[in-house]
Amino acid sequence: MPVRPVGEVVGAPGAERVLLHAEVVYDGIGLPRPDAAVLLQAREGGYWLSDVRDHAATARTFPEARAVDGGFAVSPPVVNAHTHLDLSDMAFEASPYAAFMERVIAHGRAGGRGLAAAERGIAELKRHGVTVVGDIVTDPAVMRRLLEDPDLTGVAYWEVIGLRDEEADERFEEARRLVAGFRALERPGGVRVGLSPHTPHTVAPRLLQRLAAWARVEGLPLAIHVAESPLENDFHLHGRGALAEWLAAFGASVAPSGVSPVRYLYDLGVLEAAPTLVHMVNVSEEDVRLVARAGSVVVHCPRSNAALGCGTFPWQLYAKHSVEVAFGTDSRGSSPDLDVTREVAAAREAHGERANVRALVRAAVKGGHRALGLMPPQVRRGGGADGLVVWC
Ligand code: ZN
Repeated sequence: MPVRPVGEVVGAPGAERVLLHAEVVYDGIGLPRPDAAVLLQAREGGYWLSDVRDHAATARTFPEARAVDGGFAVSPPVVNAHTHLDLSDMAFEASPYAAFMERVIAHGRAGGRGLAAAERGIAELKRHGVTVVGDIVTDPAVMRRLLEDPDLTGVAYWEVIGLRDEEADERFEEARRLVAGFRALERPGGVRVGLSPHTPHTVAPRLLQRLAAWARVEGLPLAIHVAESPLENDFHLHGRGALAEWLAAFGASVAPSGVSPVRYLYDLGVLEAAPTLVHMVNVSEEDVRLVARAGSVVVHCPRSNAALGCGTFPWQLYAKHSVEVAFGTDSRGSSPDLDVTREVAAAREAHGERANVRALVRAAVKGGHRALGLMPPQVRRGGGADGLVVWC
């Protein structure tokens, strides 16, 4: 279900009105509407938004308008708020989380990550009609490539991993030097540079605190994978399980905290930087309260969570506490493609009646922009229809 520009779906304009209807219609203002329609007016060689209304009533009022089926949804551009484009050559495979992490490491050691893979990922994103992206970057060449792309916007987060406290200062200085160089390449309206401490367990506490404090002072967008696998709670709360063994084998400084990974971030002061939190599947209501208070946006990657056996995202709990949720595909290693509208379809199937379809569409648009620190787009009456896409 890639998204396509409205003009491509309704065809060349004539002296006519078009009634573009869909299961959900969202102009970015207020709430998305169910079974609604966008009334378009042909003018000056293009289509302009005349109104957004109830489908049946508008069809009766404008019987001469040409009806076009917009399928599931019509909305402003959707956002893929979390992916790893440099893993686009990794074969998709459903496997337990611990085995997946081993596969990622092996794929990287075999030279599978890098610019060539990212190029394929960028091309795939654009094929799906998506140009707003949150990407985790591990290669300076990929960072430069994203910053110079004329069609993309969003955030390229420089990933930092550092398991041992003794290397914290060195890792921090290295990240600071690299990010300063990348930021000099930012262009107005283009991709921004952000920072991604990988997870609460793969970044030693001192490094995590320094990175978060620096991001806060510099206004750098921050994204962290948190509470993805149940193994994280096993490690933090009880000091046991596959993750605990893996970290011990690598001589990691991160010790079991006795609290949840989210509470651990709160205790370290990391949530004060309002980081975008990716996955957030294995959380308690207390965790969600902390996230709501911090004003963080949560990125939901339902297909990846299912493929890695991570559990089910508590959609209703986030809705109850008014936490902004966005969608991301994660990498091609844990997702069959980079089409974020398929994440929405997967969420609809997984959550059923627990998630309102209009809230799902809003999350893919408004939540996605918020996750990346961008102004959510609005398409007002009298505005060009180019600001809308059709999910079909
Ligand atoms: Zn990820």
